[in-house]
Amino acid sequence: MQYTVTYSCDHTGTVNLFGPGRERERKLAWLETVLCPACAAEAKAKQNAAASEKAGREAAANGLPVLQGSEKQCAWAETLRAERMAKVTEMAERLQPKVEGDGIGIVAAWKESPFDPVSWLALADWFEEKLPEQSRTLEEKCRARGDVSHRPSCWRAIAWMIRQSEAKWWIDNRYHDFDAMVERIADEPEKIRREQAERARKEAEAKAQEEKEKEELRRLWEEKDRIATFFHSVFGDLVHTVEVWNRSDKRLYFGRGCGANAGCYYSTGNGSHRPETLHLMRSDAKERAAGREEEVRAFCAEMCKVWKSITVEIDTTTGKAKR
Ligand SMILES: [Zn+2]
Repeated sequence: MQYTVTYSCDHTGTVNLFGPGRERERKLAWLETVLCPACAAEAKAKQNAAASEKAGREAAANGLPVLQGSEKQCAWAETLRAERMAKVTEMAERLQPKVEGDGIGIVAAWKESPFDPVSWLALADWFEEKLPEQSRTLEEKCRARGDVSHRPSCWRAIAWMIRQSEAKWWIDNRYHDFDAMVERIADEPEKIRREQAERARKEAEAKAQEEKEKEELRRLWEEKDRIATFFHSVFGDLVHTVEVWNRSDKRLYFGRGCGANAGCYYSTGNGSHRPETLHLMRSDAKERAAGREEEVRAFCAEMCKVWKSITVEIDTTTGKAKR
């Protein structure tokens, strides 16, 4: 059954409801208490933007690196990173390593600034240098237990994660649970580094290719404009199309197209025309080109050298190539 609903935002909409009458009534009553789909989407987008902005401010205050990527990617990654950073704080709070001597200062500094990668690295360094035996046992025992909080290699992994500025990385890894992610970074640092370098290389390559194609297209249009301007300056509205034609022999036609040609340049020549000759087919074309025939011939010769085939449509009001 189709119903008209007035949502809580006063917008109306039609919905199809099925099932027993009482169920439909209940659903209808509920729909009247919520926002219409458009308003709900808008509210959600606003909420996301606000969350991302807040996360961005906190990240900057905590000295986290500025995220790299598209605007949309960065906005999303900012929220994802904030969730991960909350786990980092939690882990720092949970950890109570038993240390003595200068280790006390290192632990104190690290507790104070859990978002400083250097403090995580200092902690790992201190452990591995001063307590090599204990450090190795911790590593092995905790690895077997799946405990990431007490493994020096995982502290290094956290330092790596804090420095991670690629928005795409935070997005790609959003489904990993925090401990699994830290473990993966700790156990495969080389692999991750390689993956990231490879991705960066591919992206740079794609961008360079795109730039190259853009540049080539820009040059093509520049060249088409140059051709259009020349023919327009000599023949005016007698020429709408210039075409290098390459079949049994190579020619260049210019005129109104479809056989209504003002002239033809025979590049390779054939049984009836000598090579490299210009043939003006109409008396008005001859009049307009009077005194400039050699210039036209040279221009055609150059075009036939450069192009295997090309068609340029001329906008006779501007004298430029038609887009
Ligand atoms: Zn609405």
